[in-house]
Amino acid sequence: MSLNIVLLGAPGSGKGTQADRLQERLGLIHVATGDLFRDNLARETRLGLLAREYMNRGELVPDDVTVDMLRGRLEQSDVRDGLVLDGYPRTLAQAEALDRILKDLGGRLDGVLYIKVPDDEIVDRLSGRLICSECQAPFHRRRLPFVTCPLGRCQGEYLYEREDDQPRTVRARLKTFHARTAPLIELYRRRGLLVEVDGVGSVEEVAERTVGAVECLRVQTSDSSLSS
Ligand code: AMP
Repeated sequence: MSLNIVLLGAPGSGKGTQADRLQERLGLIHVATGDLFRDNLARETRLGLLAREYMNRGELVPDDVTVDMLRGRLEQSDVRDGLVLDGYPRTLAQAEALDRILKDLGGRLDGVLYIKVPDDEIVDRLSGRLICSECQAPFHRRRLPFVTCPLGRCQGEYLYEREDDQPRTVRARLKTFHARTAPLIELYRRRGLLVEVDGVGSVEEVAERTVGAVECLRVQTSDSSLSS
């Protein structure tokens, strides 16, 4: 049975890493709008060049283009059996659009995990973040002073700093999160979809919490479909 999950959280709260774990452990397909924009940018598509202006300022790409891009991605067949959305929705309009898209595709939103991390820790994490140019795994400059990916599967690809991880842009992204995305926490709480997850701790510790929360949602969802 398909299960559609949203991961909510500030930039740097670990959504991407945790979405990868959910994909590995539960088979939910990881869809990240930030990755879709970065992929468009690398290919220098019109969408990518438009998005770059907003991304470099730490602002949100306009809703209409973001929603169209997401719809295109969710219409692909690989996500039919369940997905985990990372970095979407970020506005109330995007949340409404998500409901419409899932309904059109015969699905629905089953749960929203809010990964909570204090702002001070976010700034610290993002200002030292380095990303592997091949596998996109994130590392921290202080804790892992390598210049090549240490995971051993990328054949020495280099680590780079994302342009929007500069301190000024990090602060702008956090401000954008509190102003535009944080209201979604209440929205989903009222709808009974929200599960709060403590995002402080090692990747493995947080992964235990997120996988556990999604497994609970899976049981609840199958119970409610049996009784309806
Ligand atoms: P992320 O990788 O999720 O931190 O996203 C990087 C940047 O891409 C954000 O700061 C935004 O400029 C843009 N972006 C990603 N997802 C969205 C979205 N759902 N709505 C608007 N802009 C987005």
